[in-house]
Amino acid sequence: MKQPIVTIVVPCYNEEEAIIQTCRQLSTELKCLMDDKFISAESKILFVDDGSQDRTWSLIVMESVKNSYVTGIKLMKNAGHQKALLAGLEKAKGSSDCVISIDADLQDDVSVIRDFIEKYKEGYEIVYGVRRSRQTDTFFKRTTALGYYSLMNKLGIQLIYNHADYRLMSKRALEELGRYREANLFLRGIVPMIGLRSTKVLYDRKERVAGETKYPLKKMLSFAFKGITSFSVTPIRSITLLGILLFFLSVSAGIYALIQKLLGHTNVGWTSLMISIWFLGGLNLMGIGIIGEYIGTIFTEVKRRPHYAIDIDLETERLGRLKRQENEQVPEKKFSS
Ligand code: UDP
Ligand code: MG
Repeated sequence: MKQPIVTIVVPCYNEEEAIIQTCRQLSTELKCLMDDKFISAESKILFVDDGSQDRTWSLIVMESVKNSYVTGIKLMKNAGHQKALLAGLEKAKGSSDCVISIDADLQDDVSVIRDFIEKYKEGYEIVYGVRRSRQTDTFFKRTTALGYYSLMNKLGIQLIYNHADYRLMSKRALEELGRYREANLFLRGIVPMIGLRSTKVLYDRKERVAGETKYPLKKMLSFAFKGITSFSVTPIRSITLLGILLFFLSVSAGIYALIQKLLGHTNVGWTSLMISIWFLGGLNLMGIGIIGEYIGTIFTEVKRRPHYAIDIDLETERLGRLKRQENEQVPEKKFSS
């Protein structure tokens, strides 16, 4: 059986302190898999330099001169982790049977790459690397992550718990992913949406091998927010609901204010002020919500997400069968004549 060509995609941003060690470990792992004839000798490690300002790119070039299976692409400017990752996946897609994405800081355990490929060979199209525990994280990161996952779940966004971007995707999964042409990329949310056969592999996440996180709090918050807004219009809808609720409340507040006036418990002008504040507040919020609904619809429209994914096409299968039959018949004819 032909062994799969595997490409390991590694996005890097200012990783000069970690990259040599990362490259060494990944190379050892890859070499080992190749020697065992577990993967094809054409397999590669593809570094994506996400517009680093330090020596990352020159180190990648140096490694590629030393090792024929190390290669790299450099992005024009810092595009962010998700886009750098996507650039690597798209680049690797053409020449690989499956692609594994991993961070450059070796926090993810490289020894489970073998398990990933084993699962791929069993027929899984997507293999998620899932952290067994979050021991190495700070208390703050642990609790915010947990809260975030449960919020996403409530909003109807399917996320794999404790999975970041350490995963294997088959060529077919990558082709499906290529049809999601949206500007706001949140791969962790999109990949489960593809819906192909998938499984999980557990591993222990370690400390960063060198350097510091390239996801400071500000970047992390914007990433989390993007995750919600690019998958769900529930926040907009809740404004509409709040507006409607306030509008009805304003009616009761109006009645209350009128009664107070009739009973003579009020100062001059209080009733009209009360009614207008409540009424206009409710009306305003409802209006914003309705406009929001339209923006929400535009938002889902402009994404141009694929509407369906074809699993099996009987027509192409039939044509394939006919072609095979034709090929078999041609030599027979030659013999009979
Ligand atoms: N990264 C990137 N572009 C960026 C930020 C990060 O390519 O703008 C890469 C980074 O080099 C690393 C991966 O994304 O390989 C994950 O970043 P990091 O390890 O700093 O995140 P953390 O593990 O702290 O969440
Ligand atoms: Mg990291």
